[in-house]
Amino acid sequence: MSNLDAVIVDDLNEWRALVRESPDAASLNPIGIKEVVRGRGALETLPDVLERCGVDTGSVITVLSDTTRKRYKNDDVLDVVLDALRVTYRVEIVRIAPGPLASVVHADEVTVADAVENTRLGAPRGLVSVGSGTMVDIGKVVAHGLSIPHVVVQTAASVNGFADNQSVLLIDGVKRTTPSQWPDALVIDPWTVAEAPIAMTRSGLGDQLSMFSAAADWYLAGAVGFDTSYSATPVSMMRHDVDELVLLAHELGWGDQRAVDLLASCLTVGGLAMGVAGRTAPSSGTEHLVSHLLEMHGDALGVSTASHGSQVGASSVFASLVWRHVRQRLADGNVRVDASNIANYERVRGAFAHLDSSGAMAEECWKAYQRKSRWIRLHLDDINHVLDEWSTHEREFHQLLKSPEFVADTLRRAQAPLTFDQLDPVPDLEVVVWATTNCHLMRDRFTVVDLADLIGTWNPDDVAHLLAQQSMLAL
Ligand SMILES: [Zn+2]
Repeated sequence: MSNLDAVIVDDLNEWRALVRESPDAASLNPIGIKEVVRGRGALETLPDVLERCGVDTGSVITVLSDTTRKRYKNDDVLDVVLDALRVTYRVEIVRIAPGPLASVVHADEVTVADAVENTRLGAPRGLVSVGSGTMVDIGKVVAHGLSIPHVVVQTAASVNGFADNQSVLLIDGVKRTTPSQWPDALVIDPWTVAEAPIAMTRSGLGDQLSMFSAAADWYLAGAVGFDTSYSATPVSMMRHDVDELVLLAHELGWGDQRAVDLLASCLTVGGLAMGVAGRTAPSSGTEHLVSHLLEMHGDALGVSTASHGSQVGASSVFASLVWRHVRQRLADGNVRVDASNIANYERVRGAFAHLDSSGAMAEECWKAYQRKSRWIRLHLDDINHVLDEWSTHEREFHQLLKSPEFVADTLRRAQAPLTFDQLDPVPDLEVVVWATTNCHLMRDRFTVVDLADLIGTWNPDDVAHLLAQQSMLAL
């Protein structure tokens, strides 16, 4: 583990070389982020970071932040950032408050457009976004829109989306991954990241553990031919240091600075992996679909939901149970896909229509699912072929996946939620059943749930049985 007391500027050249020299380099994106600056006191070097990113001293920069106070030792992190920057830059501040009825900022169309326009008013030469997942997602879009360098000051090890070129935005109320812009630099200072509320750190572990079921979903999508972008390079990047992180789950759960720093480092490399893959697939499969639906439901009804990473953690346990369920079914043999199991418009609309009176969310989901369903209808033979040869893929799934017990135990040792009823706040059981049952109907990504549904092993009883198994893991 790194020496926390030294501020290290990592130029990421080792990762760049690994990507460049990988067998599938041609299909991967080069790493667009210039440097990661880490260690206690990293925040105070912000002017140097900006200068290295090409922002001339004396010019105007904008600091983008939400309205929540965050600790940096005994100070507020925003004050520390502003004090550091004002020595050499003229600083404008754009603060984003939660919308009416919301307790946290959402990256919806209006919020993002306002952030772009309010930042544009100051005509900045650079952008510094201060915050965790959503603020950084908005910052990436703002920097992209204004074509200016972007430095991210990460305030929590809560999600893995800091170091990549994608933003999760709300489009018509539906969570959508949207290409945006790599940050130029990422600043990770343990004096703020390890001071974040411990629930955020535990959430970061949950987001990190998505890598097992997500990578298996990505491989599956490639095996059936729906998405042929699968690459072992981002998958192996994603797993860098994860064994050590799992060993430190207990320390992580009470906020040990070294364990949190290791988590932040793993989340950074996870972000790089997604950027290199040009998609979130290395870390976003079934478990993220379930989480997206829980969040969408809460957003639509104005009900607060548990943090993204905590939902993803619990959903990762569920997803690994789904994987076991499907692999067992396939090992029994004699399985075919049944075209009558492909969801039609009425089923998709029926799943989402209650979320908004305009029907926009249901239409947005149908638009995405329809693309997938058309492809499935045309490729039933290809999917059946994969089922016929399932044993040849088993070795890969065995390597990519971890058991539900492993995922659950890691979360338990970090005192992170491993079942849906351990989330804070607890979602209603009927909402959990709805989110798990319908998760594959919201997006055009082929996952194990699509396969489960197509082979007729995704009935209400199946879902109930898996949720019951998940509850047993918490005993
Ligand atoms: Zn995530």
